[in-house]
Amino acid sequence: MSDAPHLTLDLNTPGVTRGHLIVPGGADQRELSLPVFSLNKGQGPRLLITGGNHGNELEGPIVARRLIEWLPEAQTCGRVIVLPVLNPLAVQAWSRNTPLDGLNLNRVFPGRADGSVTERIADAVSRVLLPMADTIFDLHSFGPTWDFPPAATTHPIADQDLMAKTLGMAEAFKLPLTLIWDYSDTAGMFDILAQDQGKVFVCAEFGGGAVGMDSLAIYEAGVRNALIALGLVDGKGEYPMFRQERSGQTLETHPSDELKSPAQGIFEPRCSVLDEVKQGDLIGILHPMESSTAEPIDIRATGASIVIAIRSGAHVKASEAVALIARRMKTSTD
Ligand SMILES: [Zn+2]
Repeated sequence: MSDAPHLTLDLNTPGVTRGHLIVPGGADQRELSLPVFSLNKGQGPRLLITGGNHGNELEGPIVARRLIEWLPEAQTCGRVIVLPVLNPLAVQAWSRNTPLDGLNLNRVFPGRADGSVTERIADAVSRVLLPMADTIFDLHSFGPTWDFPPAATTHPIADQDLMAKTLGMAEAFKLPLTLIWDYSDTAGMFDILAQDQGKVFVCAEFGGGAVGMDSLAIYEAGVRNALIALGLVDGKGEYPMFRQERSGQTLETHPSDELKSPAQGIFEPRCSVLDEVKQGDLIGILHPMESSTAEPIDIRATGASIVIAIRSGAHVKASEAVALIARRMKTSTD
């Protein structure tokens, strides 16, 4: 019970090693063993890839498992550590948060050794795995109540050098959307902890929650592109096909870019993700259901923008977000 978190494998062993990250037990949960894969090919970038941070985002763990299959053939240098499932309790329950303590793993970093199970997972990852990597890819999927295009995301970073490096890494995924997401609820996020330590951290996000063959192929291609850009894998990065196109764009979004529902009811989308809209364009319709005479309410774009997320888990409360919009990045050079 009093063990410190540790690995059952030696990451310095050349070649492939497999073992577990041991998260010590506590009053609420016995010890957890999280499967870890390591491929050490000597000098080069040190990359950590994690999935299953949120338990209802299952593309990440699948893509992580696929990487474990083909990396031994493909990786030419450096070290890659893959932890497909950060939070097995949440994944088993298909729940964003851990059912036992109700906590969102991605809001409790760096965790606490004497905390509840979610905090102990964060503590183990922060203390044992994070120091072993300079670059981290955390594979998310935005969650099952949203439609969201394949994207690599980061939050704004005060350190301009790290911001530029992180944005370059995110763009190297060559996914349809690269997003700088100015988000107000960032305390305790894994990426904030890593960035505070000067590390490059990119979240892959891939919406819908309905795990499908085509979306997994795009997701995997994005991660492969990023590995090529890091020099860990040979090859040429290429934009994956998405809606009959091979392209990507970099956008930024702010907390005020959330469109909220004016009332409780069922939200009907009237646009698709990555649609360009102008002020007044119809984004969706809110249908109040309390009375058969209640009028549907139009939800319209507040300005020229690009729709990046649309609510798909359709019943919403008043003031809940139903869409997220973004704009092209303003850069000093153009
Ligand atoms: Zn997530």
